[in-house]
Amino acid sequence: MSQSPAEIDLALLDPILFEKAPGGRPQLLPVLLEAQRIYGHVPEAAAAAIGRAMRVPLAEIHGVLEFYSMLYAEPVGRRIVRVCTGPICERFGGEAVLAAAADRAGVRPGESSPDMAWRIEEATCLGLCDLAPAATVDETPVGPLDSEHPMTWMSAPVAGALVYVGGDPQWLSSRCGRLIPGDVRSYEDDGGFRGLRRALLEMTPGQVIAEIKRSGLVGRGGAAFPTGAKWEMAASAVGEERFIVCNADESEPGTFKDRLLLEGDPLAVLEGMLIAGYAVGARRGYLYLRGEYARAREVLQTAIAAARSSGYLGPKIAGSGFAFDVELRSGAGAYICGEETALFEAIEGKRGFPRLKPPYPTTHGLFGAPTVINNVETLATAAFILSQGADLYRSVGTEKSPGSKLFCLSGDVAAPGVYEVPYGTKLGALLELAGGATGRLKAILLGGAAGTFAGPEALDLPMSFEGLQSAGLSLGSGVVAVFNEDHDLRRTLRSLARFFAHESCGKCFPCQLGTQRQLELIEGLVAGRAGPAEMQTLEDVGFAMSQASICGLGMTASTAILSAFRRWPTLASNGGA
Ligand code: SF4
Repeated sequence: MSQSPAEIDLALLDPILFEKAPGGRPQLLPVLLEAQRIYGHVPEAAAAAIGRAMRVPLAEIHGVLEFYSMLYAEPVGRRIVRVCTGPICERFGGEAVLAAAADRAGVRPGESSPDMAWRIEEATCLGLCDLAPAATVDETPVGPLDSEHPMTWMSAPVAGALVYVGGDPQWLSSRCGRLIPGDVRSYEDDGGFRGLRRALLEMTPGQVIAEIKRSGLVGRGGAAFPTGAKWEMAASAVGEERFIVCNADESEPGTFKDRLLLEGDPLAVLEGMLIAGYAVGARRGYLYLRGEYARAREVLQTAIAAARSSGYLGPKIAGSGFAFDVELRSGAGAYICGEETALFEAIEGKRGFPRLKPPYPTTHGLFGAPTVINNVETLATAAFILSQGADLYRSVGTEKSPGSKLFCLSGDVAAPGVYEVPYGTKLGALLELAGGATGRLKAILLGGAAGTFAGPEALDLPMSFEGLQSAGLSLGSGVVAVFNEDHDLRRTLRSLARFFAHESCGKCFPCQLGTQRQLELIEGLVAGRAGPAEMQTLEDVGFAMSQASICGLGMTASTAILSAFRRWPTLASNGGA
């Protein structure tokens, strides 16, 4: 509820400042989010009071407020509608839904209505690709939507269905939709915390790391760094304190598998964090959740409280001498915070600017201490491996890509959702699990916004790191976004370009300017204004970004787009996709 300056009651802040201010700057984002919950935005007087209590200069507070898209320094409409126009939602009319919502509220996207009833915003990805075209109304995810009667879902939003899950074997996803998320007893009865008990009661930290290394587990966030090696580096780094960070800032267009685990099996994620903590000698963990995942936030709050009251968080876990606790942190709308060092900055209460690397997080991570940062799926998989053993884990998949993987199928497929299959499953077989492509298959975006496009000839490829690499493709976080012949692929490229231009944090020029220039060129192409010179510029801009950007966002901002032009050269001339 927004209030005028005269109505602001600063005393409402007292309880939160009393609780959080002693924590200093790292508590800034939680305090700002809480202030916004109280006042509807963060009024200047509240920002000043927070700055005084937390000893943070007001200018720095404004820097943080401006950085995160879900924080508002000015009054906004009472209901905030965010309509996704990411590549998958765009495919199914997301732009028309946005226009209809804005029209009905009497505003342009990015504005609040004069009566302050509505705020309509464009979102470049909401992680709701299975519900495309999707939106959130305040914190309720809604979809699939049409542009016909926007006020129906804007006024009375009904939460969209949970992520559909299928595949074989269902190891990581087996509890999703079957158990009550966060219920410790059901989780234990289903074999949950067996991996943690085995680690704590039967193994040394070194043996845990050796088991993870033997499994061949690699990071599931996209970078595929060997998990055991990462844990080993953090364990052997010099430092008084170590941290485990779960990267749950899932924001890559086409990716929604972590949402499945966070909403469906949160205790497995916590168990993975606990095992990692024991392995590297950490006593504290942070779970950084993307701000838009309200349903997951509620589930995680329940799960963390239940784990704490059952003795799985806190001192002497499961009767051992090991102590560990987890703090849930909510993001505030910034894709770049999925980059590991930007995420550390966010937890530390700053703008989410990536740091220069090296040094790497395993030696200089959160608060400058040795840190393991792992993706949600990676941690859940680590819990599975400790419970079932590396041998079972390696019994499926391929030699170089062992185990099973969650893939996100979206776009023109009969049954969008998350499918768990062994690495090495043929792409065509994966599509068949989702009911196959609807319409005549044209293109498949593999690996996400920073991935690569493939055509129908890729259906025979095995979905393994080595299988896709040999074909010049990437597996990334497991995105399989399907587009049929009915769709103008240039619109998808424009959506991708818009995503990167919007999400570039602006810290380095090659990315800041390059993503803007890339978008202009793609928009020119869609409008029929691009010729050979523009296409050469697009290549040059992409090359400059890939070579000179500070972080992975800029380095890969042109990868998928350029891969499409290489695969379908006619896209550049007549749109003959
Ligand atoms: Fe920011 Fe882009 Fe530079 Fe990364 S590459 S630091 S996102 S401007």
